[in-house]
Amino acid sequence: MADFRSEIEKRRTFAIISHPDAGKTTLTEKFLLYGGAIALAGSVKGKKTARHAVSDWMEIEKQRGISVTSSVLQFNYDGYCINILDTPGHQDFSEDTYRTLMAADSAVMVIDASKGVEAQTRKLFKVCVLRDIPIFTFINKMDREARDPLDLLEEIEQELGIETYPVNWPIGSGKEFRGVFDRQRGEMLAFTANNGQRAVETRELGLQDDALVDLIGEEAHRKLCDEIDLLDGASCAFDMQRVRHGKLSPVFFGSALTNFGVEPFLEEFLNMTTPPLPRVADTGEIDPFSSEFSAFVFKIQANMNRAHRDRIAFLRICSGRFEKGMEVFHVQGNRKLKLSQPQQMMAEEREIIDEAFAGDIIGVFDPGIFSIGDTICDPSKKFEFGGIPTFAPEHFAKVRQKDTLKRKQFIKGTSQIAQEGAIQIFQEPNTGMEEVIVGVVGTLQFDVLEYRLKSEYNVDIVMTGLPYQYLRWIENDDIDPESLKLSSDTKLVQDFKGNRLLLFTNEWNIRWALERNENLRLAEFGRW
Ligand code: GDP
Repeated sequence: MADFRSEIEKRRTFAIISHPDAGKTTLTEKFLLYGGAIALAGSVKGKKTARHAVSDWMEIEKQRGISVTSSVLQFNYDGYCINILDTPGHQDFSEDTYRTLMAADSAVMVIDASKGVEAQTRKLFKVCVLRDIPIFTFINKMDREARDPLDLLEEIEQELGIETYPVNWPIGSGKEFRGVFDRQRGEMLAFTANNGQRAVETRELGLQDDALVDLIGEEAHRKLCDEIDLLDGASCAFDMQRVRHGKLSPVFFGSALTNFGVEPFLEEFLNMTTPPLPRVADTGEIDPFSSEFSAFVFKIQANMNRAHRDRIAFLRICSGRFEKGMEVFHVQGNRKLKLSQPQQMMAEEREIIDEAFAGDIIGVFDPGIFSIGDTICDPSKKFEFGGIPTFAPEHFAKVRQKDTLKRKQFIKGTSQIAQEGAIQIFQEPNTGMEEVIVGVVGTLQFDVLEYRLKSEYNVDIVMTGLPYQYLRWIENDDIDPESLKLSSDTKLVQDFKGNRLLLFTNEWNIRWALERNENLRLAEFGRW
């Protein structure tokens, strides 16, 4: 047990967030390269790499060449054990993307230097803020024509409401890209285009070195000195506590494709992040170094192997050590069980594992007993971790089965898919299950639903789009929802736990409802 503590201490578990095409996959691949991990893909999606053999459980992935579900990569680098939680990269991302962030201890935000903050980054960022986790920014594609770095920082600060601290500073961009100046070390890392080969030749030069002036030219040197002066004077001081709470984001400029600035970034990132932190349960904080095992379910993935029709529940280990075959207590199910087939998702390989530690993610076989947010812990301890938020869907459709004789399969299918968290289902008060309202975070999930109902449950459906865009949970128990004054295009629905919700077509109607119903309290997030 001597190394129990060091096993947990070396864990770093993070998610990479970005808008599609900003370079998340490329950056992840470079990280793996440094870690010497051979197993690529599976999670590093097969768009260009054609390594998506494992994904054939869902044709949609093949047809669209994207990864619908997110998974996890583990590799070792420089004495650290790194878990990267991959999130789907398509704009039609789902709630899974959001939930993945619940299992991460920090986030890396990749931004395209020519585009700045984009829609999906903004959405994911909101969830990071909710979690109070450190956020590191990698401004990518500096080898291409980029926007002014000062503008980019200002945009991040304005749009996302987080302060920034540039750890390094770019000299030019595109054809004129000369490299970055590391503010902490006071030296320049020169850029040499090398067509994406592994190693980059770098020359480390101090700000006042003549060789630096020769290398980048007098004009660029003057500009660099001015900008560094400006940053030293104006930007906020580097404060680790503010970084740890997601108030200050360390920023790095680089180019993932040419492998420039990736390793220094990884090193600094590992340096600045912490091992797994305590998580809050109903009995108080749970120490990750406690010898008693605990974990929660943050994701359920169905039918990865169509021949077996299995479900995999993904657990984030919060404390202690997991051992194959150990007995655990499933709090919500109120019973002891042995987790079967504990697996670690090593990219395209699913590897049966013998042990795992706090900070790790494992996938276990789920015979249909787990729900998202469930706690699993040592039988001697019975506590519950705080629930995972459900995020308000933004797209809605009415769904019914074509063939009324298939009612049972329809109910079973939609309920199971909802239980996995791929969709949310609602009903109008006083209606039967023949027709449900389905809400999704990304429209791709509608296709997933249709495809899965057909292929797994043999049910054809009719789907009619609804004009709603916003969903809010009614927080007051004491309000009779029928008595609410609402605009004619606002709809009252309920979920299957009996929670009452309102569907709105626009933000203006939300304000309208709040103004006309004084006591009404509406929530943007629900709880599993
Ligand atoms: P993702 O959708 O965020 O995972 O983005 P990808 O990693 O798939 O990258 C999108 C595109 O940008 C690909 O064609 C990459 O080759 C390209 N790309 C990624 N990083 C860089 C970079 O640093 N410089 C340049 N020029 N292109 C890049």
